[in-house]
Amino acid sequence: NFAAGPATLPDPVIKQIQAELPSINDSGMSIMEISHRSALFDDIINAAEQDVRDLMHVPNNYHVLFFQGGGTGQFAAVPMNLATTHKRIALLDSGHWATRAGDEATNLGYQVDVLDSTKDQHYQALPQYDKPISASDYDYLHITTNNTIEGTAYHTIPEHGDVTLVGDLSSNFMAEEYNVADFGLIFGGVQKNLGPAGVTLVIVRDDLVKPVEHIPSILNYSLFVKKNSMFNTPPVFNIYATGLVLKWLKEQGGIAGIQKVNQQKASLLYDFLDDSKLFANHIKKSDRSLTNIPFTTGDADLDKQAVTSATEAGLMNLKGHRSVGGLRASLYNAMPLAGVQALVDFLHNFEKQH
Ligand code: PLP
Repeated sequence: NFAAGPATLPDPVIKQIQAELPSINDSGMSIMEISHRSALFDDIINAAEQDVRDLMHVPNNYHVLFFQGGGTGQFAAVPMNLATTHKRIALLDSGHWATRAGDEATNLGYQVDVLDSTKDQHYQALPQYDKPISASDYDYLHITTNNTIEGTAYHTIPEHGDVTLVGDLSSNFMAEEYNVADFGLIFGGVQKNLGPAGVTLVIVRDDLVKPVEHIPSILNYSLFVKKNSMFNTPPVFNIYATGLVLKWLKEQGGIAGIQKVNQQKASLLYDFLDDSKLFANHIKKSDRSLTNIPFTTGDADLDKQAVTSATEAGLMNLKGHRSVGGLRASLYNAMPLAGVQALVDFLHNFEKQH
């Protein structure tokens, strides 16, 4: 399953969920039936939080919060909680999801200044910004670390002066290493690398969490901090399943371990594409994503044929996003190297036939 999300989950996790579904921890109740106010669930959410802290080496002055509403919910929550001084946000426009974040903040009445955009390069490279940028002008700078649709990723964080950095990590959350302390806030839905859709992780530095009035409680960071992410009923099953994926990730050697595998997976496909006389990836090499790899023959009909034949061969969801066309392989954490090898073998044969 090469879908951009929701994505494949690790096989052992699916099997564990299957085994535990009728009764969690000998309680005689399914995880879907237990109270979020029970000691049983306390253990589950606390372990998940601790595993996020361990895996990302989260400094003690950061909160780890579990929200609903996805990355899209955070496009609203972040400005409402953080853009309280200047009501001005700086943005690097690296593609569709950066634009969506900017649009949501604009709709809510904040001023969004796009400092740089690579729209005129079809987002095939990342915007950089090397002029001074200051906290006296902006509440924060928003970046999208991995651009799911366009297939680019910041492997090093752009210069941002003394401005608070906010990162949308939705599509490479724990797929490659970032230093949490470089950011004031990180967010992302878990449904690509970390679990089933329904949980949104927010990691935020404590000085940025302030009581804010006139915003929806469901998006209010300071309330969620006070209530240990249980202001209302949390998605109990999804947090449990995410917790299992986090344990699995630890068994893979943590983020450093999975990043190595992700690099191998991505190199296998990029090396094939760079050698191919039929398929190509057009992203600037230093900006290429590890997790989302768009490619094309340059001929829309042939691309379509490749997607259809791949589906028949059991290689699913390779159709590119409608705004980019072509094909796209999403190689999130749970995609094994063997899956990418099968894809490369298929593409190699398709190339021979065409
Ligand atoms: N940000 C990025 C980079 C994404 O890839 C996505 C979804 O694919 C979103 C935000 C939106 O996330 P959600 O669907 O969880 O609202």
